[in-house]
Amino acid sequence: KTFTKNDVLEKAAEYNVKFIRLQFTNIFGTLKNIAITIEELERALEGQISFDSSVIEGVVGQNEADILLYPDPSTFVIFPWRPREGAVARLICDVLNPDGKPFAGCSRSILKKNLALAEKLNMQFQVGAEIEFFLFQTDDTGKPTVTTHDQAGYCDLTPVDMGENARRDMVLTLQEMGFDVSSSHHEIAPGQHEIFLKDDDALAMADSITTFKFVVRTIAQRHGLHATFMPKPVSEYNGSGQHLLLSLWQNDSNLFYDESISEGLSKTAKQFIAGLLEHAGALTAVANPLVNSYKRISANDLAPILAGWSEGNRSTMIRVPSWRGPGTRAVLRSPDPAGNPYLVMSAALQFGLDGIKKSLVPPEPLAKDIPAWEIKKVIRQMGLPRNLEDALRAFRQDKTAWYALGEAISSRYLEEKENEWERFQSKVHPWELEEYLRNY
Ligand code: GLN
Ligand code: MG
Ligand code: MG
Repeated sequence: KTFTKNDVLEKAAEYNVKFIRLQFTNIFGTLKNIAITIEELERALEGQISFDSSVIEGVVGQNEADILLYPDPSTFVIFPWRPREGAVARLICDVLNPDGKPFAGCSRSILKKNLALAEKLNMQFQVGAEIEFFLFQTDDTGKPTVTTHDQAGYCDLTPVDMGENARRDMVLTLQEMGFDVSSSHHEIAPGQHEIFLKDDDALAMADSITTFKFVVRTIAQRHGLHATFMPKPVSEYNGSGQHLLLSLWQNDSNLFYDESISEGLSKTAKQFIAGLLEHAGALTAVANPLVNSYKRISANDLAPILAGWSEGNRSTMIRVPSWRGPGTRAVLRSPDPAGNPYLVMSAALQFGLDGIKKSLVPPEPLAKDIPAWEIKKVIRQMGLPRNLEDALRAFRQDKTAWYALGEAISSRYLEEKENEWERFQSKVHPWELEEYLRNY
């Protein structure tokens, strides 16, 4: 996988590439790109393409600084859906200051920094992802609706599942681009699908998730559908999650597995889990970044709502499936697909490592089923934040969170997200009119 600048130039020539998109991610996880022609590729690979920083911070106007895009040669991929003649390829870039140091607002560089810190402890962070999304019809003007194209349910087959063709096309395209797709299926709600990306090192996985969303949207559009990663687009249906399968490795051994104890789950794994639980509030601010994210976090719909862990309880933010051996994983179930994967993984890693550093002990795992009469009490005791404001407040007070994301991104993120909450909070919503207008 170590692809050099020269390999990129050779491949580009061999495949007759005409345009190259230089991709990077802004603080809020949105993929951005600028296109260059093949004549500029050599200059681009030397990190000579400059831009202004506002695109990354999500604000235009204030304090624009010049930044450089520095492509990672190993991310060179040709877009399979574009014509072979005059092909289009992409490179994912780090964002640097003119002095060559990472730009403080570059979330990819932040993840690299966090992974390097783990590497100092001789630990490698591996992540797999189960990404859920909806396919909706578009109206006559091409605008997305919330009308689904099918009425299928969990793991249904064609002909019930009319999204099958679109999903097959997505999986084939992803594979052609080098993705390791483990499986895909129809999810519980009508029009809802899941694609499972096999474990990879965290940086590659964050790159994959960003690319994934863009590919899924593109292919959906070619099938006349709109793909959305909005966490809860329809009140009556399950929301979309992005469960992350976490493991920590020392060279070839999985540090989450310990064959010498009967349950197989290592002390390191438990400390890591305890760290995630300790910082659950701040983690939620990053992994559930939208006002809408909190409509998914509920006691129904198999979505997590408790800052706890378990083997089989789907209400907890962490689940440890019963697989042992090298396959031992902690599944972080709280993230939704709206988060910036570079930041979500940065936060999860540092919170887990904090648990290891402090030798934290997790609470008892929760029972498989919490009886209905007890769930409200448990939510009061150990519920995840119920809205964006509470999550952001938890982040503000969490030093490890600021350390994981860095001062620049943390303060910018909080400022923008607090504004988002204020915008929502200052509006009168249809539910309020329905509920109150007549009676008060
Ligand atoms: N959609 C659920 C979530 O939001 C997951 C349900 C499932 O994977 N079966 O997390
Ligand atoms: Mg799944
Ligand atoms: Mg699922």
